[in-house]
Amino acid sequence: MAIQIYNTYTGRKEEFKPIQPGKVGIYLCGPTVYDYFHIGNARPLLMFDIFRRYLSYRHYDVKYVVNVTDIDDKLIKKAQEEHVTVGEVARKFTDAYFEDIKKLRIEQPDVSPRATDHIPEMIDLIKRLIANGHAYELDGDVYFRVRSYPPYGRLSGKNIDDLQSGARVEVDERKEAPLDFALWKSAKPGEPHWDSPWGQGRPGWHIECSVMSMKYLGENFDIHAGGVDLIFPHHENEIAQSEGATHVKFVNYWLHNGFLNVEGEKMSKSLGNFFTAREIVAKYRPEVIRMFFLLKHYRSPINFSEERICEARQALERIVSTLDSINTLIGVGADIDRSESEFVRGLKQEFIEAMDDDFNTALAIAKLFELVKEANLIIAKETITENDKSILMEIRETFYEYNTFLSILPGEQKSDSMVNEGAYIDLLLEIRRELRIKQEWKLADQIRDRLNELNIEIKDSKDGTIWRRK
Ligand code: AMP
Ligand code: ZN
Repeated sequence: MAIQIYNTYTGRKEEFKPIQPGKVGIYLCGPTVYDYFHIGNARPLLMFDIFRRYLSYRHYDVKYVVNVTDIDDKLIKKAQEEHVTVGEVARKFTDAYFEDIKKLRIEQPDVSPRATDHIPEMIDLIKRLIANGHAYELDGDVYFRVRSYPPYGRLSGKNIDDLQSGARVEVDERKEAPLDFALWKSAKPGEPHWDSPWGQGRPGWHIECSVMSMKYLGENFDIHAGGVDLIFPHHENEIAQSEGATHVKFVNYWLHNGFLNVEGEKMSKSLGNFFTAREIVAKYRPEVIRMFFLLKHYRSPINFSEERICEARQALERIVSTLDSINTLIGVGADIDRSESEFVRGLKQEFIEAMDDDFNTALAIAKLFELVKEANLIIAKETITENDKSILMEIRETFYEYNTFLSILPGEQKSDSMVNEGAYIDLLLEIRRELRIKQEWKLADQIRDRLNELNIEIKDSKDGTIWRRK
């Protein structure tokens, strides 16, 4: 079955058909770098990175673009408050954004365009919109004429007339209609500005994303993503501007993640109910945070609480401790003849089907737990056959394989041929065994005690030594 994606534009799940076979272009609205991003903002960054990596795993050639909004009212306000330049604010929080995504094990996008590096292209697009009647200038400001684009409202399921009558009378009464939005804003004294045919000023927020997405992905591209709050007006405006200028369909699939809530309310800076992603990563391991998000479908709301994080941690620990037990039983680098078992193959198929069904990570992770359950049943057996060992190997390999896009396992466990933490522990235990044979008890006990301090528990029995994480 082909990959199905829920498209906000049509309001249903659709078969994913890329514009060019085997290739996918994805654009995600990225951060406005006026502060550290919060753990709610982390949801789109983390989930769409997983989807992009999953599509690569499924052999698509993916180009993933996440912009950086480095000029905006919020940046200007912050710079004034802190008595620094807008450029300094942007630099500080752009650096922090890259540090934080790395901490969350989010991979770098293929392109991270900054708005201020694309001002000439924005001016060109605005000129085109003025030339073809979609925009008008008013004393150095330029507005998009919403009435000139009849499909306006299609994405958000809103009707222009309802929106028009619902719109509050704006401060700027010079506009032709209340819904018309700014493409270019004339500079106020002391604000950063660029020269333009309409005088000195700066771009509006919406035009940035139209320009940067089309520059790197083409006038028509596959996937545009963001949080649900961006559907209206940001994405609606992006469509109007882009299609108004190009007369070409802008985006084929619109994907939107649900909110991260705190006690039923959207986590946001303005409500003050937020935690920065960096403080959360410092408090919990990144794998735990990733698991927390993966346990819910990306379109559903998700509640941020200590309890939910605890559940995610426990879920993760079940996986890690099962993999540790497998490593102990069959050794980290062991190479056993692997004849694929029906059981593992079936569950792998179900995992892929879940991911292919609008990236249903919650269901996909449930399939992984069926593998964990099977592994634990085998581990608990009195005698473990060669066939059992080969099933355990397959289960372990499956985790390593999927970890290439889930990134939920501690350390850099990518494949059993790579040396990982478990291999070092095995090596220490081998040395300890030699020491015990030579009756060098002091040194042998020292290894045991040091490992114990590192939360690795060792159990000696007549059949040998096993270890597990405490
Ligand atoms: P902002 O900085 O508000 O423009 O948000 C950046 C990205 O984070 C956008 O895609 C938003 O939709 C998304 N976002 C903001 N708050 C939340 C939240 N509480 N839960 C999930 N996504 C959010
Ligand atoms: Zn955007």
